[in-house]
Amino acid sequence: MTGGFPWAKVRAALAGWFARCARSLPWRDDPRPYHVLVSEFMLQQTRVQAVLQPYAAFLRRFSTLEALALAPQEQVLQAWSGLGYYRRARMLHAAARAMHEAGGIPAGAAELQQLPGIGPYTAGAIASIAFNQPAAIVDGNIERVFARWLRLEEDIRAAGTRKKLWQLAGDWVEHGNVEGLAPRALNQALMELGAVVCTPRAPRCGECPVRAHCRGRDVAESLPRLPPRKTPRLARYAAALVRDGRGRVLLVRRPEGDRTSLLPAALWELPHVKAGRGWPAGALEALLGAVCKATGKTHTRRHSIMDWSITLCAREVRCEKAPRPALEHAWFTPARARSAAQSSATTKLLQAAGL
Ligand code: SF4
Repeated sequence: MTGGFPWAKVRAALAGWFARCARSLPWRDDPRPYHVLVSEFMLQQTRVQAVLQPYAAFLRRFSTLEALALAPQEQVLQAWSGLGYYRRARMLHAAARAMHEAGGIPAGAAELQQLPGIGPYTAGAIASIAFNQPAAIVDGNIERVFARWLRLEEDIRAAGTRKKLWQLAGDWVEHGNVEGLAPRALNQALMELGAVVCTPRAPRCGECPVRAHCRGRDVAESLPRLPPRKTPRLARYAAALVRDGRGRVLLVRRPEGDRTSLLPAALWELPHVKAGRGWPAGALEALLGAVCKATGKTHTRRHSIMDWSITLCAREVRCEKAPRPALEHAWFTPARARSAAQSSATTKLLQAAGL
């Protein structure tokens, strides 16, 4: 796979390029362990640009590990608002509590992996960026860069290939460390190359600091080879927009672990039920605990969760008497509804309804 590849030359070229050209990012410019911890949780499944503003706001609210560990979960979820995937916020909070109890953030990838929400990638990223440890990391950017450098033609997600990529990533940072290059810079240089030069489409090979050694640059856009995408499964939900006489909207919150909806539980959301083609008036009445009538137009949005393609429909609903859902519920002004801890699906529906 790697026979004859000039790893040491590539490391030196890439580290030099990173020192000259790296983007200034707040967690990169000030890589205190707590900052790196927060940024790595936020960056899971989210782009750098979308993280910058919430990251700054989150650190203003919880400036230390202790402040985060001692905060109520409700406040942490609220501070996560806008980032989606709230499971990450819960995991970060749980990890912060465990670390605070244990006396701080551990430096080793193996210890970090024992904590909630920290898998091999996040552990390697925190260990290398925050503590300059020679810990391996492999994410989508690094898979792509290695696949192109080495012209890997096999399925990049196959177990054997992934194992090999982790070995390569380990060698990358360990050998580089011996050569006098900082693990922190080596790992971030790989990530940076994948993020800004060796991009999935239209890679900028002409500006690439390692193009002389890249075996796949003439076929770059066809690499890495990925397994075919699965056809998404379909689901449809109908949501009730119920307002009180003061224009407030009714939101409910399902308990942690609830599986009655594909939308994440334990967040504020519009009361909703699974739906077929028609409007499920009876099921919504049962949920709301009141006789209701749907009025006005249907607001529809599409949303994807894992391999599900979900159609979300919301309609204004008038209830004959005050609804009494069995679920936890509260009335929110439009401004409070917008800032409540909610999934991105709920945000989409509230926006569609003009809230
Ligand atoms: S030469 Fe092109 S394909 Fe190869 S690493 Fe650089 S940007 Fe990627």
